[in-house]
Amino acid sequence: MRPVALVATVFTAAAFVAAGPALAQDYPTGPVTIVVPFSAGGPTDTVTRLVAEPMSASLGQQIVVQNVGGAGGTLGATQVAKAPPDGYTLLLHHIGMSTAPSLYPDLAFDPVKDFAPIGLVASVPMTIIARKDFPPNTLQELIAYVKENADTVTYANAGIGAASHLCGMLFMAAIDTELVTVPYQGTGPAMTDLIGGQVDFMCDQTTNTTGQILGGEVKAYAVTSPERLANLPDVPTTAEAGLPDFALGVWHGLYAPAGTPQAALDKLETALQAAVADPTVAERFAELGTAPATAEEATPAALGKLLTEQIALWKPLIEAAGAKAQ
Ligand code: ASP
Repeated sequence: MRPVALVATVFTAAAFVAAGPALAQDYPTGPVTIVVPFSAGGPTDTVTRLVAEPMSASLGQQIVVQNVGGAGGTLGATQVAKAPPDGYTLLLHHIGMSTAPSLYPDLAFDPVKDFAPIGLVASVPMTIIARKDFPPNTLQELIAYVKENADTVTYANAGIGAASHLCGMLFMAAIDTELVTVPYQGTGPAMTDLIGGQVDFMCDQTTNTTGQILGGEVKAYAVTSPERLANLPDVPTTAEAGLPDFALGVWHGLYAPAGTPQAALDKLETALQAAVADPTVAERFAELGTAPATAEEATPAALGKLLTEQIALWKPLIEAAGAKAQ
């Protein structure tokens, strides 16, 4: 038995070596899936669909966007961490990739070891918004109102570790008040409920709030960027509105499972570079209060460095806030 098994093993390995490089060079020969770890129609989904089109043109293959919401983005990320490392399943995740290890004691993946970074996609400011008939009209009024009605005011987010959760966590720490949070699988559905009046307020990215603010469907109190945004000139910054130390930008990165062949990673990087250089993408991002990553940022090295830095940055902040997924 033994020699036969040995021969079989050697044969399999030889076949793999012969086929492996050829397959990697031909990549991609079929559709590529990008997993968005939040619901369709939300900010991460919007960013993904904007870059998917030019990436698809560059790769010469269709890109399928798959929404796998839940647990603040960790379910979708877990799915990609465990997917075959062949370049056909990717993850587009935001800042939550760096906060998950500090928030989830039983996290099923390691953001650094289980993924190969491809590049940064965009950084997006956030807005603190409310249903349009919510009584407070300014950030200062919101703070006073929330402090007085902490038991009844509801704050929507996309689960622990989502950007909307982090923003709420920082807001609660800044005003020293605990809020009642209502988690969704993404802020797309949370926005629908906010407009419908089922929840009171939330903090979400401009990619999901600009249209609704400009259309008067929701009320905006502040943008979390250091400067006001060109397309929302009447909305003050958090610093101007009275929270000087409060700023948050939500960076998004594209990842493949660790072990993906280098030839595939190189093609994906080229495709991402094409997407961030695309004038239509830049125009659409500008309408949504942001810009695509630069050519230097849309690289594995830049995303890998940022991810490591952000994991270290958020750990003490999360510990100080006492936030943890159960
Ligand atoms: N990016 C959103 C958040 O973190 C979730 C989403 O994309 O739906 O709150």
